[in-house]
Amino acid sequence: MILLITLIAFAMLVISGVSAENADAIDASALNEVSVSGGISDISADIQSSDLNEVALADSVGDIKNQNDASLKTNLKDSSDADSTSLNVKVNYEYQKDANKITPDFYIVSADGKFLNFTKVFDSSAKKWTLNVDGSIAGDCNLTAMSAGYLSQSKSISSAKLSDLVTFDLKATEAYKLGQTVSASADKLLNFDKADDILVVTTAGVARLNNKTSEDAMEAILNYNDKIAYSNVLMLRQSAVDPIDFAFIVKKGKELKAVVFQNASTKCTYLGTISEDMTKKQWNAYYKNVTGENAWAFASLANGWAAGVSREILQEAAFHGHICEGTLGGYSIIQALMKYYPPKQETDPSGKVVSFGDITSYKVLGVPGGSDDDAAIFFLDDTIGKTGYVGMDTTSTGATENMIGFIRWQGNTGDLIIMTFNSSNLKKLFTKETGINPEDGSLEELKYNSWWIKQIKNNPEKLVDILYEFTGLNQSHFDYLMGTTNNISYDGEPFDYGMDGHGLDLDYILSLNLPKATRENANLGNGQLSDDQLKQIGIDAVNQAKAIFKDELGIDVDKDDVDFLALTDASYAFLNGQETVVVRDGIYEALGGTLYSQTLLNLHQAAWKPLWFAFAVRYPDSDEVNLVYLRYNPSTKDFFIGDLDGKKVANIGFETLNNSAKLRQIEKTFVPDSNWFNIQTIVNAWNEHPLFDQMSTFLYHAHVCPGVQPGFFITDHIQNTYPLGENESYTYIASSIYCKDDSLTYLLDLSPGLGNYYVQKLPKNETVSEYVDGGTQEGVIVVWDDNLKVGRASVVSFKWATIDTSMYGTSEGARAAQIKAYIDMYADVENPNIKAMPIVSTDSEKWINEEQFNMLKQGAGDDFNAITYLKSLDNVTKEDLLKAMENSTNDGSNSNSGSKSNSGSNANSNGGANANSANTNANTNANSNSPSNSVSSTPSHRSSSSASLGTSGAIATAAPSEDAESEDASADSPSEASSYEVSKTPATKSADSNALVYALVGVLAIGILLGLGFVRRNKKE
Ligand SMILES: [Zn+2]
Ligand SMILES: [Zn+2]
Repeated sequence: MILLITLIAFAMLVISGVSAENADAIDASALNEVSVSGGISDISADIQSSDLNEVALADSVGDIKNQNDASLKTNLKDSSDADSTSLNVKVNYEYQKDANKITPDFYIVSADGKFLNFTKVFDSSAKKWTLNVDGSIAGDCNLTAMSAGYLSQSKSISSAKLSDLVTFDLKATEAYKLGQTVSASADKLLNFDKADDILVVTTAGVARLNNKTSEDAMEAILNYNDKIAYSNVLMLRQSAVDPIDFAFIVKKGKELKAVVFQNASTKCTYLGTISEDMTKKQWNAYYKNVTGENAWAFASLANGWAAGVSREILQEAAFHGHICEGTLGGYSIIQALMKYYPPKQETDPSGKVVSFGDITSYKVLGVPGGSDDDAAIFFLDDTIGKTGYVGMDTTSTGATENMIGFIRWQGNTGDLIIMTFNSSNLKKLFTKETGINPEDGSLEELKYNSWWIKQIKNNPEKLVDILYEFTGLNQSHFDYLMGTTNNISYDGEPFDYGMDGHGLDLDYILSLNLPKATRENANLGNGQLSDDQLKQIGIDAVNQAKAIFKDELGIDVDKDDVDFLALTDASYAFLNGQETVVVRDGIYEALGGTLYSQTLLNLHQAAWKPLWFAFAVRYPDSDEVNLVYLRYNPSTKDFFIGDLDGKKVANIGFETLNNSAKLRQIEKTFVPDSNWFNIQTIVNAWNEHPLFDQMSTFLYHAHVCPGVQPGFFITDHIQNTYPLGENESYTYIASSIYCKDDSLTYLLDLSPGLGNYYVQKLPKNETVSEYVDGGTQEGVIVVWDDNLKVGRASVVSFKWATIDTSMYGTSEGARAAQIKAYIDMYADVENPNIKAMPIVSTDSEKWINEEQFNMLKQGAGDDFNAITYLKSLDNVTKEDLLKAMENSTNDGSNSNSGSKSNSGSNANSNGGANANSANTNANTNANSNSPSNSVSSTPSHRSSSSASLGTSGAIATAAPSEDAESEDASADSPSEASSYEVSKTPATKSADSNALVYALVGVLAIGILLGLGFVRRNKKE
């Protein structure tokens, strides 16, 4: 990896030199080689006079492209070839037994900078590797050894000493060491070998250790002991600044024991029972020792797991942060939705599914604060950034936090179904059956969770109430509920900039008097595969793919290959109603790939999507990526294999993105399940080696695009400008909604289900930034002190980076170049296409009280939106605000946190906001009273790019914002909503909506709307 970074930097130098001098003369294909290959090919072209051509695999980019067997490493050639050279290598690991577990990967680079082809063989008695290189090696070469969790090491090998044994002593990364140490310590304390089963719950991953993401900790846990199943390591969604905690939980008979490590410490803070059957005294001891929100996270996940909750719910709970009534209720609601209002796929006259693309789409109307919202977002893949979810505090209209509305949209009409789980009835039923009141405390709540889990298995019907079932929803209704930034007309009046979203506005919905919808009764399937059978599907997919790569490219894929990827929707997709989480364990077993080393990526998809696998090979010196696509067929128990003109392997790199005829063919026969956009963007981003937090976000967002990128920079800015103090937490009210809301949600660890992400889509003219010229007002960030009941709120503005894409001929090419530029920006890697960095700014900071906070959550009433409301507030100091609050009433700060042992036990209070005490030791007052915090988001390392400003005449300014907007517009316009994946590609759709031109501005139009029909009930104060 070190080597690779050096090479990338080198490549950048070469390219920037070329493009500055002669930008016009370079054709698109040549400049596509922005990655390592461009540099290396250029270099090799320069040094071509040497006699090393027999070793050279490809002298130029063109050669690489034309050569189907351009597999630059592990290309299977006859190793008995007389013309081959052998290197003998021994790899020692800092954790010695890893030598038995991991297969090291290597790069061999010749003196003239070419990656050499070789095969590798392990001699198990001598414990050394033999690398057989085709042909002879002239001059010194460079050998790099790589393993996930370890720092890559390179050695220069002199040509005279090729036969000497080369020894590497690989050193583990900090996070890997942490993972190994806590694993060993937990093993000592809990005795893994005697356990029936082991669960690990951790916040490592996105959370940073010494300023690096900490995913290697999970790699270490998996390597530590084979008894820890791949799917039994749960990564809790966290932000970069959250503490790194681990809970190891072992099940043995009826015993459930845990050891907990917190704040990246290797000393355990708790050892003992974590079972719901513990005594209150034991719970108090647990709660006292395990600080912060993770006490509930660990206990609820451990007991849910012990109660046999499905792995799918465990995954969702890890996203949400814990298991609670809302998690389980949300799951039950989705099951009911799938049964009575199932998604529709394209079928032939006989009813056979002919395309896995949906002709319906779901939109979610939520009320943030109920954990069920996260379940809807998770299981339907209805993320905020894909405009699948809208939700403000609409309780004043009669909605409750436990209600979810679903729009099932098809063509230009839809159904609107509102469901809830009746918490108080179910709690009564539980009390009647068990004699336990779930609101007595956390232990009682844990038992209530376990009861729910049993009900889901045995009696799912009685858990959910379907409150309203409407049909005949039209475009106007849709726009009013979801919001839009398209030009529309509403009740005959033009809305030039769109309309704000109103979410689950029950008054409005009921005022429509829509006819009743008709339920279907879909068969969700009754899959009965065992874990072993499910794992075998993963193993079979791997073997199938390996055979194809060997057959068509001559590649022999090794275990732990750093350049081989398995991408799948296993763990999200259901198979005959059965969850598929454990399919990944089969892939892990067969390939050694993991999420943490970015070699086994699971892509967020809706539960009803087919189970598919995409396998990809990348190369250190080329932007070629070769793909094999498989879809599992449960009835025949075999795979559909993607085919492109008789080949089962296709290069889907930059070159393909610039070939529209090939793209069309791919979507027809190679990746025909309406998921091509998702797969190609993830795989091509993977080829750019993104950081772990970025890749995790891409996977959650389900594709990579320019539009998702601002979230990284906004997150950094918020965390730097407003580090959380004790009792503080973030709440975000989103105003301008597009892909970046998914990266914000994911990386700030916020969500509607946690009650700290509100979504009020505003018309375009209301989000033009008055603080950053050319910027957009994205929303309002609130830093809330739950103890003092005051907070600071600011308007967040963002301005896109300027990226030169003038040399790319197709929109796909330009898009990919933009994505690469943003990945480079985020990783502090130079990229000559970056002409100006993005700007993030937080302005109009105000201290607010609880009433004002609630107004923001409600979208600020009829006269304001969240942004205008904030701007309208008086500027008061924190001290004056606190004094005013003291004077008004003695409503005072209640003190039911921490001290009372069983506190935080009712369902909603366990969500996010109340338990952030362990987050950071930053002083609360540190950043107050700074009126504007406008800075460029990544201030460092930009000097060189500013130097290149103005050197090129044709700069496509702010292209990504247009891009994002058209994505946004097409995704949220219901007429295009049937499949947002499809709507991503063509640009024609936004043109349609631009054809409507109206003169009236939004404010006036809203007045007309109110006059015409529906008047919103007064908000409760
Ligand atoms: Zn919850
Ligand atoms: Zn996107």
